[in-house]
Amino acid sequence: MNRVIKSKVYKDGSFFDGIIGVQGGSISSFGSCSGADSSSLCHTEGEVFQFNNFVVLPGFIDVHVHLREPGFSYKETVESGTLAAARGGYTHVCSMPNLKPVPDSFEGLEPQLKAIENSAKVNVYPYGTITEGQRGMKLSDFDGLLNRVIAFSDDGVGVQNEDLMRQAMLEAKKRKKMIVAHCEDNVLRAGGYIHDGEYARKHGHKGINSESEWKQIERDLKLVAETGCSYHVCHISAKESVELLRQAKRAGLDVSGETAPHYLVLDDSELRDEGRFKMNPPIRSAKDREALIEGILDGTLDMIATDHAPHSAEEKGKGLKDSLMGIVGLETAFPVLYTELVKGGIISFDKLIKLLHYNPMKRFGIGTEIEFGAEANFTVFDLDTPYIIDSNEFLSMGKSTPFEGKEVYGRCKMTIAKGDLVWKEI
Ligand SMILES: [Zn+2]
Repeated sequence: MNRVIKSKVYKDGSFFDGIIGVQGGSISSFGSCSGADSSSLCHTEGEVFQFNNFVVLPGFIDVHVHLREPGFSYKETVESGTLAAARGGYTHVCSMPNLKPVPDSFEGLEPQLKAIENSAKVNVYPYGTITEGQRGMKLSDFDGLLNRVIAFSDDGVGVQNEDLMRQAMLEAKKRKKMIVAHCEDNVLRAGGYIHDGEYARKHGHKGINSESEWKQIERDLKLVAETGCSYHVCHISAKESVELLRQAKRAGLDVSGETAPHYLVLDDSELRDEGRFKMNPPIRSAKDREALIEGILDGTLDMIATDHAPHSAEEKGKGLKDSLMGIVGLETAFPVLYTELVKGGIISFDKLIKLLHYNPMKRFGIGTEIEFGAEANFTVFDLDTPYIIDSNEFLSMGKSTPFEGKEVYGRCKMTIAKGDLVWKEI
């Protein structure tokens, strides 16, 4: 169906009164309603949405999402996860490979491709694994996966063996693919489950030290220097990791990194003994949080991903010690970041759009701008009306969020992905 959206539109760093026509999946007209050539634009036919108090933003891109299908559909499905994405303003997500079957070959990937084809509401780009079964023993069938995956990642576990990671980088480079690394040294992790800091000591919890993260990043960056592989670090949480990535960028390596909203707005003094505060890597100290913010300000950290990782209520209902790792994030990322970082005066609005849209688009080569002829991927937000985050409203099957009950600004009113109206609340 043809659609016409009249609203303030964010484009090239500022808002203007625009009109977007959508036809056959693409933006068929785009411009200003007050310009000299406005008459043809303003009479574009179709279902018309006129927003006086909302803004149109380019669709967000999340390079780190767990959709749980195939294998764990009781936690989330491609359908529920991509509906949650649409409700959060995301039009493109990359799905992590800790699934059953594991996408370590074309056969392993096929069931996920079918689920995506049948039920995805937004654009989904699966990862293939680095190692067979994510066991860290032998490389996956890179050639079988090559044309169907966005990059290679063993997310969920770190690749422990240095020689195998070197091999993976060499093989990925040959095929012009990126290695996207969950960095975690299992020996250093030593069974911890929240940050090894003041809260853990005070309440008798087993801590995860920061070294378990940054040591493996340090090793990988050395391998990147050696192999010339294109490399991206997942969910950076520790101050030492930020500094290592900063140095690697200064040295001219082809590297990038992401962090997640919870690491930027929470620290371990705010933990409670509830599963919704448990994820891996953990929420770290105030010093780490400050270093992450510095990292996004100076461009060391390129993007913010959610690490949306839904589990069942039962799996998350066992406190810090015994709940599973992972929280949901697709439906809270923008409002939390907009409220805390933009309205809080820490980063500009433009910076936030770069972190959620422009930078992942450039680095991963997915997503589109709002422009004539492009595939229509954009989202509409109310930035002015405060509301309370209520997980009962989530379209994700996962409800576990540390932001439950938080008052925020930035509510997604509509999302168009691939030209389809995939979310509407008006
Ligand atoms: Zn991970």
